[in-house]
Amino acid sequence: MSYSIRYSPDNRLLIGDLVCTCGSHHNTPAQDIYVGSGIVENVSSYIAKRGYGRSCVLVADNVTWELAGRHVSELLTKGGYSVTECVITRDAPMEPDETAVGEVLLSLKPDTAFIVSVGSGSITDVVRVNAKRANLPQVCIGTAPSMDGYTSSICPLTFRGVKIHREGKCPEIIICDIDIMKTAPMAMVCSGVGDVLGKYIAIADWKIGHIINDEVYCDVCGEIVMDAVNKLLDNLEEIRSRSARGIQLLTEALLLSGMTIMIIGHTRAVASVEHNVAHYWEMMQLLHHKRPPMHGASVGVATLMVLPVFKAFAGQDVTKIDPEAARASRLERPERIKWMYRAFEKTAAEAIMAENEGDFLSWEEQKRRMDRAISRFDEIKAVIDELPEPSRIESAMRFLGCQMTPADCGVDEALCNLSMRCAKDYRTRYTLFKLISECGLEDHYLSAYPIS
Ligand SMILES: [Zn+2]
Ligand SMILES: [Zn+2]
Repeated sequence: MSYSIRYSPDNRLLIGDLVCTCGSHHNTPAQDIYVGSGIVENVSSYIAKRGYGRSCVLVADNVTWELAGRHVSELLTKGGYSVTECVITRDAPMEPDETAVGEVLLSLKPDTAFIVSVGSGSITDVVRVNAKRANLPQVCIGTAPSMDGYTSSICPLTFRGVKIHREGKCPEIIICDIDIMKTAPMAMVCSGVGDVLGKYIAIADWKIGHIINDEVYCDVCGEIVMDAVNKLLDNLEEIRSRSARGIQLLTEALLLSGMTIMIIGHTRAVASVEHNVAHYWEMMQLLHHKRPPMHGASVGVATLMVLPVFKAFAGQDVTKIDPEAARASRLERPERIKWMYRAFEKTAAEAIMAENEGDFLSWEEQKRRMDRAISRFDEIKAVIDELPEPSRIESAMRFLGCQMTPADCGVDEALCNLSMRCAKDYRTRYTLFKLISECGLEDHYLSAYPIS
């Protein structure tokens, strides 16, 4: 198993020479992803290579407009493009809601040939959904290394105050100019770091899914992500000082993680139970009209919370896993439905249950998984032993000034406790948290998160 990463002379990040025995088809990412200092100056020539038309809509918010939007607009005009500017102006950080999506939609013209987004998560998502609906290519100018969604094709949005996901397209051209990215506030850098640290959990859960359910685990995708995360942890000084090298390493970690989605066709390498906790916080805060936490920051905090549970499970005495006790505490369908309504509230509970029928487990299947966990416990333990110690992650986050607790993210204790209990129920994707529950050990391992 091996891969190579290199840059073309014009700063295009290329991942290739993929050798992997997992048996899956590995796609070569078709997007043009450029990373480097000062490269935004090349925006017109990067776009020209793709041969789009001459007319575009450029979307920024009032913050990213000042940061890079105006300059990009001037560069494109100089490059011979006709630019319609759509600057979404808000007093507070822009929400990716129906109003913002509508502002972009109404800026499109019959001859618009492509859309340029200048921003990070929310702006990219607001443009992404429009690019998909209007079937136009998107050029993304990143402004902060705050999350790994530049390469995503899913748009998390809010609609009538509720969090929704809509299908989008991955931008065809992504330009991350390090000179721009390194001016991002430290809170956004910390958010990016949090999103990257969560990959430890994602990879461990994927491997556990392989052990318990024979899921195909792609070694090369796992390696790409782990190499990037480890490199980050080894260069904390550079990241804290927001040096060009530090911000480049963080940006690469976020982009390379995202590129595994294109290589393997799913998000297994980048998101698992830590993202479920973070999504839950975001969803519930919105539902209760409170400000949602920053995505990556909450992923980082959630990682700090779930990692000790992994480490504790490595010390499990398998002879103490008791199928009869597990059967006695198991939720049958009506009880599980009741639990889902309680945890996720009506609308989300119904959507999650409809999409994840596989989570209504038969006793036979539950028993099979327990037996597998017992017979292959050494392998599970080895996966967990590879994870860094929680103290290492904690001190790294503290060193950078990251948010450390749910309270830092604006999440109260009741919501935090509930999130740890229902993180396993958010989707069918296999996690150690599912295994713990299936073994009847949830109250034991999650005793620090009581719910009444
Ligand atoms: Zn994320
Ligand atoms: Zn593979």
